[in-house]
Amino acid sequence: MFEKILIANRGEIALRIQRACREMGIRTVVVHSEVDTEAKYVKLADESVCIGPAPAAASYLNVPAIISAAEVTDAEAIHPGYGFLAENADFAEKVERSGFVFIGPRPENIRLMGDKVSAKQAMIKAGVPCVPGSEGALPEDPKEIVRIARKVGYPVIIKASGGGGGRGMRVVHTEAALLNAVNMTRTEAQAAFANPVVYLERYLEQPRHIEIQVLADEHKNCVHLFERDCSLQRRHQKVLEEAPAPELPAKLRDKIGERCAEACRKMNYRGAGTFEFLYQEGEFFFIEMNTRIQVEHPVTEMITGIDIVQEQIHVAAGHKLRFRQKDIEVRGHAIECRINAEDPYRFTPSPGKITSYHPPGGPGIRVDSHVYQGYSVPPNYDSMVGKLIAYGATREQAIARMRIALSEMVIEGILTNLPLHRDLLNDTRFLRGGVSIHYLEQKLAQEQKKKK
Ligand code: ADP
Repeated sequence: MFEKILIANRGEIALRIQRACREMGIRTVVVHSEVDTEAKYVKLADESVCIGPAPAAASYLNVPAIISAAEVTDAEAIHPGYGFLAENADFAEKVERSGFVFIGPRPENIRLMGDKVSAKQAMIKAGVPCVPGSEGALPEDPKEIVRIARKVGYPVIIKASGGGGGRGMRVVHTEAALLNAVNMTRTEAQAAFANPVVYLERYLEQPRHIEIQVLADEHKNCVHLFERDCSLQRRHQKVLEEAPAPELPAKLRDKIGERCAEACRKMNYRGAGTFEFLYQEGEFFFIEMNTRIQVEHPVTEMITGIDIVQEQIHVAAGHKLRFRQKDIEVRGHAIECRINAEDPYRFTPSPGKITSYHPPGGPGIRVDSHVYQGYSVPPNYDSMVGKLIAYGATREQAIARMRIALSEMVIEGILTNLPLHRDLLNDTRFLRGGVSIHYLEQKLAQEQKKKK
């Protein structure tokens, strides 16, 4: 096993990875920007290295600085967390070429899945069901584009092959709007992702977002850790996640999970990964694969008892997975609320100093957060300040515990979306389970109307 790991990330996930390492007896090096010097997890690490000023481009995305930090501290492996360089195949390659282990998939797998057109093609080949759409990139010829859209059927969604984070997508309802939408998405994709390639899919009207967690080792062993339901989204960003997905027939879940594990074996995949699907009327449609640890991984950990970050480290060191599919069972139910420093109604970021902080506790409650009283949330990064996770023997118990936890939690000095979560945990439609990906936005729009 490694003796020392460098954590190339910040915030709650930097602390989460550090905790996993400490439990495994591995020493940690944390790299940080100038504004994160005072963060508690920086002080808790065995070593820390300041790699640059606040803007991420100069620090958390500064590849030479991160690799030098690993060199001077004699770290053996680098954990990229999520976001920043986690899905950058060039980074993974540089890490390995510099003699370190990248705690994640092989660079060629990251590259294949980072391009959504090639990812979809690989999935079709592996027998994973995809959203019907263009076979690969849209061609230049306008007539051809019109023909493809007609064949797929309206409404359609134009998506950037290099897109991510919910950006680079456009829904088209009529043929009259098609070509203009394609051109606009191409221009935006070129500007945002330096890749003008776009493709087209049927736009599903009422799907749920259900994703499958997988874990694979270097020895062609791969298991799935069941599913998460992440349908509560705003602007294609997840707000609340749960596992297992309410009302999903066990047979369908096992079948899709096994397909994903099989696809990993075919790809020679290593590490943790997530297959994201839209689910509608009993059918799964692949949309993308994330080749990293995800924000919402704790809900899966709670229902399976498996520490996914420790498993990432374990397989990165070349070890075999410690369990087989038949050893993994779903026990109980878990829900995660993403706590953001933002206006709960207008969703504008709300960085600043936390003047008062009281995290909740009690049976089944887990708080993954790096913040504390007196901590200043910098304006430079993502607004997520922590995750509140509730576990129960049943969904009802997890909901009851989450309600109590939300009522106990106090964060003052900045605005947070805690009021939104308190409201959601009392929403009759959510309580019934199985809402579509559009539900939250529709609910918010209705409430906006009522206020006017
Ligand atoms: P990103 O990498 O930006 O997260 P995804 O392909 O994962 O992009 O899509 C993000 C979200 O966009 C999905 O969770 C879903 O809400 C919506 N979406 C994507 N494709 C479709 C589709 N074909 N039909 C309906 N909604 C879609």
